[in-house]
Amino acid sequence: MNAIILLGAPGSGKGTQAMRLAESLGLPHISTGVILRQAVADGTELGKVARDIMAAGSLVSDEIVLGIVEERIAAPDCGRGFILDGYPRNQAQARALGEVLSTLGATEWIANIDVPPEELTARVRGRRGTDGRQDDSEEAFRRRLEVYESESLPLLDYYGNRTVNISGLGSRDDVFGRLCAALPFAAAQLVTPKLVTPKLVTQ
Ligand code: ADP
Repeated sequence: MNAIILLGAPGSGKGTQAMRLAESLGLPHISTGVILRQAVADGTELGKVARDIMAAGSLVSDEIVLGIVEERIAAPDCGRGFILDGYPRNQAQARALGEVLSTLGATEWIANIDVPPEELTARVRGRRGTDGRQDDSEEAFRRRLEVYESESLPLLDYYGNRTVNISGLGSRDDVFGRLCAALPFAAAQLVTPKLVTPKLVTQ
C-alpha cells in the first residue's frame, strides 16, 4: 500500500497536483479540506463544528481530522494506496498518521511543493474571484499562511530527508512532471508502462 503525502502552503497548487496524481495512478484523492467543506455545505454536526474555525483560517482539532482520515483510508478503494492532501498539517497529526500507516504496513512517499510567499499571495488574490471559496477572504488567507508557517512548515524538518522538494513554479504541467519524476513510485507507474509496454506489444 502506497501513501503519498503532499505538503505545501495554501495556494501552492497541491490540491490540483494531488487530483492529477490520483487520476493518473488510479488512487483515491483524500483532501481533508474538501471533506470538511462538504460537511459545512451539508450542515452535518462535523460541519457545524468546523465552519467558524475554517472561516477564520484556523485548524480544526487534530482529533477530528484524524477521525476523518482514519475512516476514509479504511474504505476498500484505499487498498492499493491513496494520496493525502492537507493532512498532516502539524507534527501531532504527522505522528498520528505515522502510527496509522505503520499499522497498515503502508509505504510513505512525501513530496513538498515549494512556492515563495509573495507568489502565494498573488495566486490567492487571483483565485478568490473564480471559485469563491468562503475561507479565501484576504484576512482568512493571511491567517492560513501564518498557521502554515508556524504549524505545517516544521513538518519539513520532521520528515527530513524522507521528503522530496519540488518547485511549484511554472505551469501545472511543469509541476506535475517534476512531481512524477521525484516520486519513484509514481515514476515507475507512469513512465515505465509508457516506455516499455509499446515495445513489448510490437515485438
Ligand atoms: P489550503 O490548502 O488552501 O489551505 P485546505 O482545503 O487544505 O486549504 O483546508 C481548508 C481548511 O480546512 C483549513 O484552513 C483548515 O481550517 C481545515 N483543515 C483542512 N485540513 C486540516 C487538517 N489536517 N487539520 C486541521 N484543519 C484542517
